[in-house]
Parts: sequence; structure tokens; C-alpha cells
Amino acid sequence: MMKRKRSTYHCSFCGKNQDQVRRLIAGPGGVYVCDECIGLFRVQDDQERAEHDTVLSTKESGLALKCSFCGKKREKVQRLVTGPGQVSICSECIDLCVEIFEEEVKLSSTCNTGQRNKRER
Ligand SMILES: [Zn+2]
Ligand SMILES: [Zn+2]
Repeated sequence: MMKRKRSTYHCSFCGKNQDQVRRLIAGPGGVYVCDECIGLFRVQDDQERAEHDTVLSTKESGLALKCSFCGKKREKVQRLVTGPGQVSICSECIDLCVEIFEEEVKLSSTCNTGQRNKRER
């Protein structure tokens, strides 16, 4: 601990660090997701909703898949995107991250110094 001068965070899904992406959102337990991955997941999500054919409802051989960010189980969410390793993110968290990003884009574009609203869900 405390050996690194500057802590670097990596997206748990694509592996990019905070300098390579615009925004990194932290989940509990050291999982991170970047804005690029969120954008990607959202597109996939829309496509899947549009197609809506054979949704895989097979049980993943004993794996208790749940969202690494909110902890909801796979069957409780519309969709769960699984990244490399053990990380997953559900469609609800994706939507939430999209909102956060869009809000920040607005804030940065208006260049408001001064009041900064607390983010509520
Ligand atoms: Zn990423
Ligand atoms: Zn979630």
C-alpha cells in the first residue's frame, strides 16, 4: 500500500486506464467501467431489444452471475453484460452510468464554476 505515487484505475471490462478514457465509474469492490464500454453496452442493449429473438435463459453451469455494481442477480435484471474475469454490469447500471455521463457533459459544456449540484439518483 501507499507505494504508488498515483493510483491508476483500469476499466474492468476493456482494461483501459483513467488516462485513456474520459470517465471511469467505480463500483463496489474495485470494479470500474469506462464511458466507452457503457456506450458500447448501450448500443448492444438496444440491438438486442430490437431483435428480441431467442433470449438465452439457460442456466450458466452453477455460476451465480450478478451485477458487480449493484449486486442484482441476473434474473432480476433485463440484461447482464459480462466482462473479462468476474465482472458484470446490468442494464440498469448501464442506464445509470449513461445518465451520469450525459449530465457531466452538460455541466462541462456550460462551464459552470461555482455551484455544483449533488448528484441524486
Ligand atoms: Zn472500458
Ligand atoms: Zn447493476
